[in-house]
Amino acid sequence: MSGHKAKKQFGQNFLVDQNIIADIVRAIRPAADDNMVEIGPGLGAMTRPLMQHLNKLHVVEIDRDIIARLKTDYPQDKIVIHEGDALKFDFATLGTPLRIVGNLPYNISSPLLFHFAKYAEGITDMHFMLQNEVVERMVAEPSTAAFGRLSVMLQYRFYMEKLLDVPPQSFRPAPKVDSAIVRMIPLPAAQITVKDEALYAKVVASAFGQRRKTLRNTLRDYLAEDDFAQLDINPQLRAENLGVAEFTRIANFLNERAVPSP
Ligand code: SAH
Repeated sequence: MSGHKAKKQFGQNFLVDQNIIADIVRAIRPAADDNMVEIGPGLGAMTRPLMQHLNKLHVVEIDRDIIARLKTDYPQDKIVIHEGDALKFDFATLGTPLRIVGNLPYNISSPLLFHFAKYAEGITDMHFMLQNEVVERMVAEPSTAAFGRLSVMLQYRFYMEKLLDVPPQSFRPAPKVDSAIVRMIPLPAAQITVKDEALYAKVVASAFGQRRKTLRNTLRDYLAEDDFAQLDINPQLRAENLGVAEFTRIANFLNERAVPSP
């Protein structure tokens, strides 16, 4: 790996499978004047082919050794290097519309996804390599084993699609888990019907807090028997049986009730 020793604490598993890399770049379809940022370029497996298509590429990288390479091994008029933690990076500084790509460090993938969600309005799309199990949770349908809080918290804002399975052998060092590429496209504002996102998040957290209990139990602080009837939701169901539409209905019902009518 041309002298770089992979660092576990930064979730470094470098892509080496050229066919997979080509498939990913094809799926991303970079266009010359795209405003694109790559999270964690590492040794450039995706960076180099992306740069072949782009006038300019932003990269956010935390590892100083890799930063040093980025400064010497790439055409500096085409790469804009942002040194630091992607979790703390203000993506608004890159302007809009923005495309985000990355083979994400798996140890911080959920917090990263929620960090990006804050910028959803200015984002065109995102393509990520993640642990396959996480991708399955993101795209899961209600009443399936993978369906949970992550599904409901992302599906109300993003259209998501699993594009590609990536086996451990595609990386050096090989991770212990299977990976997959997911595409996330923010839904248009008009399609996001949740009125109070904090309240929605609270209801979802309560409902999934005790996954095996009925909604009557987990949402007892929020909803009485009558309320369930009014919402047309069976209180004997569990969180895993409800989709985004039902959680939205509950949160908006609570929101309306909290606001004194004029
Ligand atoms: N994209 C490369 C590297 C993937 S490994 C490839 O596909 O081969 C993950 C990369 O993310 C590494 O370069 C690692 O240093 C970087 N990284 C890890 N944590 C990060 C963080 N919090 N912010 C920015 N980059 C991070």
